[in-house]
Amino acid sequence: MLIGVLALQGDFEAHGAALRRAGAEVLEVRTKADLARVDGLVIPGGESTTMLKLMGYYDLFEPLREFGASKPIFGTCAGAILLASEVMNPAQASLNLIDLAIERNAYGRQLDSRVVKLSGHGLEGDPELEAVFIRAPIIRRVGEGGKILATYQDDPVLVDYGRHMVATFHPELSNDLRIHSHFLAKLG
Ligand code: GLN
Repeated sequence: MLIGVLALQGDFEAHGAALRRAGAEVLEVRTKADLARVDGLVIPGGESTTMLKLMGYYDLFEPLREFGASKPIFGTCAGAILLASEVMNPAQASLNLIDLAIERNAYGRQLDSRVVKLSGHGLEGDPELEAVFIRAPIIRRVGEGGKILATYQDDPVLVDYGRHMVATFHPELSNDLRIHSHFLAKLG
């Protein structure tokens, strides 16, 4: 099993390190040939508009859509925006792989960056889960197939779509490996 981390822009190094700590073999994905080698993919946080432009530039947009039609993708923050079916503030193209409406930079200035403890999440073990938010989006609608695993201020922040998964925060910046392990379990 080889897991890819989309390495066009953003927080891909920290994701790679977290996945390795969780026991995975990791490949940084920058080309179609890289993508063809991996069994699952993480799209990291960063800047979704920039990542979208780079996907176009490197001819990865359609290959990523095809990849996601049969293989698991975990999108965190900007990655969640890129997987969604509807992006707001402003509207923006996306891979449209999950039935999800998401609003960019939705916490405004009061939550440019914040570390919080979530409770009542759907993961095993410690009842508290650390979540690092950085200019985070807010999920406005979870559509078909989405199971909410964690919320913050009543908004979903971690959602499992069966094959895919999204988080509006940055699990790669916490020591807790449960979220990465939860994703790796989808690879079989
Ligand atoms: N604000 C960024 C965007 O809209 C996402 C922030 C992040 O990934 N930490 O793309």
